[in-house]
Amino acid sequence: MLVVEVLAVGLLAGDAAAGIGPLPDAWLLTLGVLVGAGILSTEASLGVERVRQKSDDASPHIDLSSVWAFAAAALLPGVLAAGVAVVIYAHLYARVWSRSDVPPHRALFSTATVVLAVQAAGFVTDLVPADELFHTLAGLGAVVLALLAYAAVNMVLVVAVIVLSGPNRDFATFVQTLCRVDEAVLEFATLSMGALAAGAMAALGPLYALLVLPPLIVLHRTVLVRQLEEEASVDGKTGLLNSAAWHNRAGRALRRAEREGGHATALVLDLDHFKLINDRYGHLVGDQVLAAVADAVRAEVREGDVVGRFGGEEFVVLLPGVVGEDGRTAAHAVAERIRKRIDTMRVDVPGGPGPVVVSHLTVSIGGATFPRDGSDLSRLLEVADTAMYAAKRAGRNTVRMGLHAVPDGAMLPRPTPYRRT
Ligand code: GH3
Ligand code: MG
Ligand code: MG
Repeated sequence: MLVVEVLAVGLLAGDAAAGIGPLPDAWLLTLGVLVGAGILSTEASLGVERVRQKSDDASPHIDLSSVWAFAAAALLPGVLAAGVAVVIYAHLYARVWSRSDVPPHRALFSTATVVLAVQAAGFVTDLVPADELFHTLAGLGAVVLALLAYAAVNMVLVVAVIVLSGPNRDFATFVQTLCRVDEAVLEFATLSMGALAAGAMAALGPLYALLVLPPLIVLHRTVLVRQLEEEASVDGKTGLLNSAAWHNRAGRALRRAEREGGHATALVLDLDHFKLINDRYGHLVGDQVLAAVADAVRAEVREGDVVGRFGGEEFVVLLPGVVGEDGRTAAHAVAERIRKRIDTMRVDVPGGPGPVVVSHLTVSIGGATFPRDGSDLSRLLEVADTAMYAAKRAGRNTVRMGLHAVPDGAMLPRPTPYRRT
């Protein structure tokens, strides 16, 4: 980070020392409009930023200020363009980043990368005479190259620092992070708007930059899409997939298993006598127990397994590629592991009149293996659900797998759920 910052300051100092002579009025007007538009667009984005701050998403902070930084690079000499970027990013820090706990050193680094990106883009646009830039084919080529140079410098530096400060500091992670499609697309969309703003300002007059503001504000909303997608697929109480999202992902995983000729197992879990926990400790403690059970289930399965909350105190897991000599035996072992973990776990719930410790939780688990027990997800769930009720009837705190757990003819209609007496 320090290297990038020193480089940015060095380049700026070099530019400033070379001098730019007296400033023509047109430059001053352009500079003023770009700084004003940058500040206005940050102010207009505050609503979206407030929504984003509600999620603790760790993805890099996307901002759209590069529209104005890129336009400055295309229209103004290097040191002035960098000045525009510094003012806009200082304002962005004061109004947005400092409130979402972006530490000052990261803000400084982001600004330094933007200064370097502006220098790179400016270097490219300077290769053609100013009066050709937005008027000839060569000018268009230079604008596109400048756009690529800006994106390359900015993204490579930011991603390098993200990867170097993360757990996996290897080249593969670097390339993978660099190629995150959502971010790359947004970066290019932003820079294209910057090029259009610069073109309009050069051809029609500086104030035309203001027409870029409304589409920019709409574009900014797209950064919420991923967050909203996630909120729509996650169960708030447990952090697991909700039922709809689970079906979606499990269905996809099952189709992959089908294509590759592999196995997969669906487990249905239902906590035993969960109503008693609510009756004894209250629903709020019950909720915390559900969250702890969700953590326990997730801890016992692999990264790629699909864990969801079906509703109430019922959970579902899809275990793709559970193989072994007998796919069912391996799946049974996973289900047993989960059952044992829940049987032995203690949930400490602080607060209230005194801390509560909930133990002696148990779960009944039913499972069904693809392709033996069913060839699609709904059939597998049907078998697993029926096996789960067989586990309840067998005394609870038990695992039952597959069709053999179910007496002939018991599949449909669904058996009467066991009732505690
Ligand atoms: P069994 O499954 O062993 O037959 O008994 P049970 O008591 O677990 O089953 P039942 O289906 O009768 O009750 C499920 C209970 O789960 C009832 C409901 O109060 C509780 N429950 C469902 N959803 C939630 C939730 O989101 N939070 C809390 N705290 N409780 C929930
Ligand atoms: Mg239930
Ligand atoms: Mg239950």
